[in-house]
Amino acid sequence: MKLKHLEMALQRCAGYAHPKASLEQYQTPAPLAARLLYHALMSRDIEGKRICDPGCGTGVLAIGAALLGAESVIGIEIDEGALKTARANAALLEADVEFVTGNVTDAPLVERIGACDTVIMNPPFGAQKAHADRPFIDFALATAPVTYGIFNAGSMPFVEAYTARRAEITDKIGGAFPIKRTFAFHTKDVQEIEVEILRLQRIP
Ligand code: SAH
Repeated sequence: MKLKHLEMALQRCAGYAHPKASLEQYQTPAPLAARLLYHALMSRDIEGKRICDPGCGTGVLAIGAALLGAESVIGIEIDEGALKTARANAALLEADVEFVTGNVTDAPLVERIGACDTVIMNPPFGAQKAHADRPFIDFALATAPVTYGIFNAGSMPFVEAYTARRAEITDKIGGAFPIKRTFAFHTKDVQEIEVEILRLQRIP
């Protein structure tokens, strides 16, 4: 599947029916999701691989990985309502994804999911709760040797320090994350946030 076709397919995914600010529920826009996934595909981290998407929300990243030929994809989400949308999105795009209700901060979840090849994630950035992304990074490093994550621009030194001796950052791709007015505290119709996609490689 070409990049443009992937983007067009992901564009069809429905968004959160009732987005929750406390969980930082922002669906990754299709162009950014497609960019992450295509980069991972070209880096041989998707095709034939076992993929996990913690905090999968409405399923955009997980579904995209399935469409690009992952062997299996598992999406984990704490919010049942979001998972309902994710399941409908996967059905619409005929993507084979297993969606699981779970809390990424629960230690036993790692064992329940088992080892994967690649984690793809857009975790909470920590705007509502400081360091909300840390349990996601810990989960990712415990689950797979390779992780792609979307972070606020400028996060790299913090991610680097947090994962020191556990992982190396091998790739950094800049991108934009347009956020539509969603919550009462949003003052603009669309606010564009600069982000960076980081690829982490676990140190054996
Ligand atoms: N990955 C999705 C959603 C990003 S928003 C996308 O790219 O579109 C972050 C998601 O993480 C939200 O859906 C939120 O409900 C979920 N989340 C937040 N804390 C969580 C936790 N502790 N365990 C599992 N999911 C969580």
